[in-house]
Amino acid sequence: MSEVVVVGGGIIGSLIAYRLRQEGLEVTLLEAGKAGQATRASAGMLAPHAEGLGGEELEWAQEGLERYPELVRELEAASGLEIPLSPSGVWSLERPPRQGWQDLRDLEPRPGGYLDPVRLLAAVQKAFVNLGGTVRAEEARHLEPGWVHTATRRLAARQIVLASGAWSGRFGLEVRPLKGEALLLAAPPPPGPMFVGAGYALPRGAQVYLGATQREGWQPGVEAEGLHWLQHYRDTHFPHLRGAAILESRWGYRPAGPLTVGRLEPGILAATGHGRNGILLAPATARRITELVLKTWKTRR
Ligand SMILES: Cc1cc2nc3c(=O)[nH]c(=O)nc-3n(C[C@H](O)[C@H](O)[C@H](O)COP(=O)(O)OP(=O)(O)OC[C@H]3O[C@@H](n4cnc5c(N)ncnc54)[C@H](O)[C@@H]3O)c2cc1C
Repeated sequence: MSEVVVVGGGIIGSLIAYRLRQEGLEVTLLEAGKAGQATRASAGMLAPHAEGLGGEELEWAQEGLERYPELVRELEAASGLEIPLSPSGVWSLERPPRQGWQDLRDLEPRPGGYLDPVRLLAAVQKAFVNLGGTVRAEEARHLEPGWVHTATRRLAARQIVLASGAWSGRFGLEVRPLKGEALLLAAPPPPGPMFVGAGYALPRGAQVYLGATQREGWQPGVEAEGLHWLQHYRDTHFPHLRGAAILESRWGYRPAGPLTVGRLEPGILAATGHGRNGILLAPATARRITELVLKTWKTRR
């Protein structure tokens, strides 16, 4: 029997699993390997002030921004993997830059930065396994207090944490897929994330990550409509990138809906609905769920 089974191995479930394992609990992470995981498509911006967040979400976003430098150092040491992170600041422009990134020299950025979410996820999962956590490539089909049912068996769990991103709607939660598509362009990167119009550009290594579309539904892959939007956005908002080669396209389902982090029923917690800011909100979410799990443990003793 696991003390905790976490359902979903995106950034939210993986960071929760790692934190709970650090507290000495027996933790199993179930990951179904769905195409369209949001974390792998994410831009990785840490931009609490760019998207109109308020209330507790803004507090959690600020907590994420503050905690990431230390968390990244900790994960790099625990996993042996490097996680590129920059506290560059974040620019919000009213008009497209005319002369490329040089236009930004005199503009003051707001607090924020960016990291590489794919490397972050790999490091969290490796650190979790290095601590003795278990990862199983299986899909949860049904949950009931004390049990997680897969296609072939049932796993006993004193506590279940549902963190299956956009797929959480399949367990009765008010979460829906909001698909995003983005491009990796071969061009010198800006000094940090830059919002203008309905999209943004930011550095990804020595290249530019340009995004992102936003469409409801489960349509898989990068669609012609999405590609057209991205190319038009690039040409109108960052004309100096017009000739840049497209190295890669990425897509994923953002878990849209109310941010749901807390108890669903006795023995089952949920951590989902992180929408456009799940990377930024992950540290506070993992802290909150860890507090709730430890509280349950203490009251049972
Ligand atoms: C294009 C794009 C750009 C983005 N940019 C940013 C950004 O700049 N900054 C930011 O903070 N956020 C950004 N986001 C949002 C962020 O990526 C998400 O909010 C976050 O990754 C959600 O993490 P998650 O773990 O909840 O979901 P996911 O990463 O989608 O992970 C869910 C996991 O659950 C697994 N799963 C599903 N069902 C089951 C099941 N039944 N059993 C077991 N496993 C299951 C899936 O295989 C998947 O791996 C962006 C998203 C997109 C798409």
